[in-house]
Amino acid sequence: MNTFSSFVRKDILDLQAYSTAHPTKGILLHAMENPYDWPIDLKTALLTELSTLSLNRYPDGEADLLKTELRQSLGLPNHLDILLGNGSDECLQILFLTFQNSERGLFTIEPTFVMYKTIATVVGLPYHSEPLDPNFTLDREKCLATIRKVQPALIVLSYPNNPTASCFSEADIRLLLEAAPGMVVLDEAYYPFSQKTFITELEQFPNLLILRSFSKMGLAGLRLGYAVGNSKIIALLNKVRLPYNLNAITQSIARFAIRHEDVFKAQVGKIVQNREVLYQALQALPGLTVWPSEANFIVLRTPAGRALTIFESLKKNNIFIKCLDGTHPLLQDVLRVSVGTEIENHRFLEILKTLL
Ligand SMILES: *Cc1c(COP(=O)(O)O)cnc(C)c1O
Repeated sequence: MNTFSSFVRKDILDLQAYSTAHPTKGILLHAMENPYDWPIDLKTALLTELSTLSLNRYPDGEADLLKTELRQSLGLPNHLDILLGNGSDECLQILFLTFQNSERGLFTIEPTFVMYKTIATVVGLPYHSEPLDPNFTLDREKCLATIRKVQPALIVLSYPNNPTASCFSEADIRLLLEAAPGMVVLDEAYYPFSQKTFITELEQFPNLLILRSFSKMGLAGLRLGYAVGNSKIIALLNKVRLPYNLNAITQSIARFAIRHEDVFKAQVGKIVQNREVLYQALQALPGLTVWPSEANFIVLRTPAGRALTIFESLKKNNIFIKCLDGTHPLLQDVLRVSVGTEIENHRFLEILKTLL
């Protein structure tokens, strides 16, 4: 045992570092990435634009130009503001740090995005959760009872939920918004694929914060996420944010991407089409339970005890998906597959068929 570990908090020692599988060859359906790269002429135009950056200078710490263009693209009214982060992961970290002093902690459902728990643990924010129903819907009464009991400073929900792929009912979200003693954070990382949002409700609920990301729509390599909320909350969060959290290259590429958002919208449209084809095909396979998806991935349950073997066999065929079996009791025998190109999905289905 190293002596320095005696200086480290026990809950940090007990944490597992988030390990990101990073295969670079094969059919990559494990990380909810957009499978389509940019057209080459767009990349060339981007390189020209990047060559004008002065990398000897600090970036704009407020990223004002990017914020203005993002604001226009979202059509945000004046009283709302934006917090930018190095991925929405960083926005979550800033948010949890800001509310860390609260005894009251965070409430979410499970299974959900594991970073909520990890970041809460690291910053020392008490974590409370209720399990979903076996069909992955929210148990309203149980959630409300726990919220009443623990009076959380933050309620965080992934909408649609990762890893269960669907949005909770609008009525349920409203109920939680009305019951919340503190902030409600809706993580809309998959908004491009669901087209469902509460961003229009920010007016009515000043305690609401919407989290979005550039990652899933097609810029996972960029690391850019943001939170939208009333300017008073954003001003608070900005006190905690480090001054130059967004580098000059990220700011420049993001502005370029916003100017070319039609390219990404077209890709997203194609992914949504592919998702429906993949969903129908999976449903037609014997022995699988497949859940409808409002995101760019699909969750399915294999015959009992088979998930890991199927996952490993796909890997041997250079097809990388995610095995969720063992990560939560409700995810027994569950696999998660990102929606790829038509060719990738076809190949995945062909191999999967031979394994069932
Ligand atoms: C992928 C994902 C994110 C991560 O977003 P980044 O912007 O890449 O950090 C956030 N929330 C959920 C629910 C996700 O699935």
